[in-house]
Amino acid sequence: MVRFTVLASGSKGNSTVVYGGRTRILLDAGLSCRELFRRMKLAGEDPAALDAIVVTHEHQDHVNGLAVTARKLGIPVYFTEATHRAWMRWLTPRRQMTYAQWLEQCRRQAAERQAETDPRECEPEEADAEIEERAAGAPQPADSNGKPGERKDDPAWLPAVEYFEAGRPFRIGDIDLSPFTIPHDAADPVGFVLASEGIRMAFVTDLGYISPNVKAQLKGVDLLLLESNHDLEMLRDGPYPWAVKQRVLSRVGHLSNEAAAEFLANGYDGQAAYVILAHLSESNNLPELARVAAERALEGRASLLANQLRLAGQHEPLPPICL
Ligand SMILES: [Zn+2]
Ligand SMILES: [Zn+2]
Repeated sequence: MVRFTVLASGSKGNSTVVYGGRTRILLDAGLSCRELFRRMKLAGEDPAALDAIVVTHEHQDHVNGLAVTARKLGIPVYFTEATHRAWMRWLTPRRQMTYAQWLEQCRRQAAERQAETDPRECEPEEADAEIEERAAGAPQPADSNGKPGERKDDPAWLPAVEYFEAGRPFRIGDIDLSPFTIPHDAADPVGFVLASEGIRMAFVTDLGYISPNVKAQLKGVDLLLLESNHDLEMLRDGPYPWAVKQRVLSRVGHLSNEAAAEFLANGYDGQAAYVILAHLSESNNLPELARVAAERALEGRASLLANQLRLAGQHEPLPPICL
C-alpha cells in the first residue's frame, strides 16, 4: 500500500509524507520540527520512521524546519546542488553596511595590519595564550557522520546530504523519484513524480505556468497534487503591494485557480484517482473558489474511482490518502 499525507500546504509551510513499500520520505520541511512531529502524529505517521527528507526548492515555506528535523532524526537530505547552496546562503544573512561603517572597518583593518608588522616581540606567555585561543576557535574534528571540519553549531550542518538532478530519476529505498524542472523564482526548483508499488504520484506546486515539460510529466499518474494558488481577481484587488502581485502573476510565480483549471480541462488525461489542490493562498484565494474552478474543469469526470477532489490546507493535515 502507498500512503500520501499532506501535513501542510501554503505560504506558511509545506510538508508531505509519502510512504511506499518500507520507505517513508518527507517532501519539504516547511514547518518547525515541533509542528511537523505534532502533525505527523495527528495523521498517524511516526516521525522516527522517516528515512529521508527531499527538498523541492529553498523558499522558506519549504525549508523552515529542515535542519532541526534532519538533525533530530539523523536522516539524509536530498537537494539539487544549486538548491543546497541557495539554502546555505539563506541561512547566512548578511547585513548592509553604511558608508560610515565601511570606513570604520577599513580603519580597523589598517590598524590590525600595522600591529601585525610591529617588530615588538611577544612575551612567551602571550604567545601561548594566543595559540590556545586559536585552538578554541578552530573547527572541531569530525564527529561520527560529519565531514572533517564541520560542526553541529554550523546552521547549515546536516547529518548527510545527497544530490539529485532534474531530469535524472533516482531511488530512495522502495520509492522511485523523477524530478523535473518547474518555472519558479528559486535557484533550481523541481516537481516530482514518485512511484512505489506500481502507483505513480505527481507533486507540483510553486510554478508560474504549466510548461510543456511539466505537462508531459503529469501523464498517467494515480494521484495529482497541483498548485491552485490564487484567484486572479482576488489577487488583483487584494492587499499585496504591486511588486509582489507582479511576482506572483509572473511566469516564475504561482499558478492561479484559472490556470490550474485550464490544465485540468484541456491538458490533463483524467487518469488520477485523486486530484489534490495545493498551496492555496490565504490572502488571495478561497477554498470554495479553487474547488469550484477545478470541479467545473473536471466536469463529469469525477467518480468514486477517478478524479476525487481534495483541498490541502495550511492549518491541519489532510486525511491520509491510501492507494
Ligand atoms: Zn511555496
Ligand atoms: Zn516557492
